Amino acid sequence: MGRSTRPPARARRRFLAASSAVLVLSVASVAIAAGLLGSPSAQAQEAQEAQKAQGAEEMSGAGAVAAPASLPPELVERAREILRRVPLVDGHNDTPWQLRQRADNHLARIDLAASTAELDPPMHTDIPRLRQGGVGAQFWSVYIPVSMAGDGATATVLQQIDVVHRLAERYPETFEVAYGPEDIRRIFADGKIASLIGIEGGHAIEGSLAVLRQLYGVGARYMTLTHSADTEWADSSTDAPQYDGLSPFGREVVREMNRLGMLVDLSHVSAEAMHAALDATEAPVIFSHSSARALTGHPRNVPDDVLRRLPENGGLVMVTFVEPFVSEATREWFAEHDAAKARLESLHPGEPEAVEQGVEMWEEENPRPRATLAQVADHIDHVHEVAGIDHIGIGSDFDGISQGPIGLEDVSTYPLLLAELLRRGYSEDDVAKIAGLNLLRVFDQVEEVAAKLRAERPASDALIGELDGEPKGEPAHEGGSH
Ligand SMILES: [Zn+2]
Repeated sequence: MGRSTRPPARARRRFLAASSAVLVLSVASVAIAAGLLGSPSAQAQEAQEAQKAQGAEEMSGAGAVAAPASLPPELVERAREILRRVPLVDGHNDTPWQLRQRADNHLARIDLAASTAELDPPMHTDIPRLRQGGVGAQFWSVYIPVSMAGDGATATVLQQIDVVHRLAERYPETFEVAYGPEDIRRIFADGKIASLIGIEGGHAIEGSLAVLRQLYGVGARYMTLTHSADTEWADSSTDAPQYDGLSPFGREVVREMNRLGMLVDLSHVSAEAMHAALDATEAPVIFSHSSARALTGHPRNVPDDVLRRLPENGGLVMVTFVEPFVSEATREWFAEHDAAKARLESLHPGEPEAVEQGVEMWEEENPRPRATLAQVADHIDHVHEVAGIDHIGIGSDFDGISQGPIGLEDVSTYPLLLAELLRRGYSEDDVAKIAGLNLLRVFDQVEEVAAKLRAERPASDALIGELDGEPKGEPAHEGGSH
């Protein structure tokens, strides 16, 4: 999930028109139902987040974006058949944040039992399309912006967790909250979608292991250690490093997550923090929505030296669909877009309308290169080559991005990606692992480790000030006592 800047309406309409046009090709090629639109969302997305992080990155030459491969319908049907046996587990979807932004969490205002593709801007997620996509389990992100760090973060994350619980109450035929791998298997066998809660950003715990434990108590089953900025104890991939990865308290957070049985999510953290967490953890880790840095040099992606540690750790990378993390050409476009905008701001100081007009002209002359389903499969291939088949999953980031890659426009499209893997020679067993069995194995191991650790040691009562300096009590908002 990214930060929020609403693109101008004209720009959104233009993206929509462009994506409708390219979609005709991809829909025809795979013979799926028409009417799915590439979906620019109201928020800024990982794309903008990426854009922010681009500055210091060295740009390499952009490859041409290929059209999606033509997928024989029989492969798509084989993929669907796999998903009737094995739950597709997606690592990251930002629908709860969409509900907050669009409807102030009034769930009656957005009917997920009907299509949300016609909303303005369209959403990527609704129940009919989740069913079409064969989704068996979803980690719903209870994302909160980093601007809330120390300013209502915990209350806001609780409100977003409440949304996931209320969705399960509102649509009991479809969703049931899952608290572990056995729940996922049972709920999937019952024909429902297991709904898991993933915290995005360690700022949610406001520097307190007590808060971490209580968030586990209300269902949180992973926590991404940072979002786009450093926390008080962990370095983000898109912020200045402060702690060589993790502070002593940050390592204690990882240990306590291990003891609780909460998945340690290393998407968004710096490479140093990935290594520090792998050094500290006693259980397998996940990357809930990240791709391979060797293919797309974005700092949000996972470098090979980290991928090579996954076989020993046991964890997995849930490959994401975020376009600038998938396509080097898209990533480069965002950098050029920023540079063009900065130039216009310098030429027209104090004239925001002129800048906006200039940016729109630039965008018309320089259409954004689109990432493709085939490129997402390339990232899966790379994680396969470097880490192995047991260390791959899927983490779309739908509804946290403006648009999915061509061919992966919304939650109905997972069978197409799996069909592409079959076409590339992955066996049905391999595809089943990628779809969900790897995540289930990791979650089983995380629970086994937690059971062992709970027998060995009590809850950690370490305080951040004690471990990282300046001894003081539990952090809390100021104001009550003075
Ligand atoms: Zn994210």
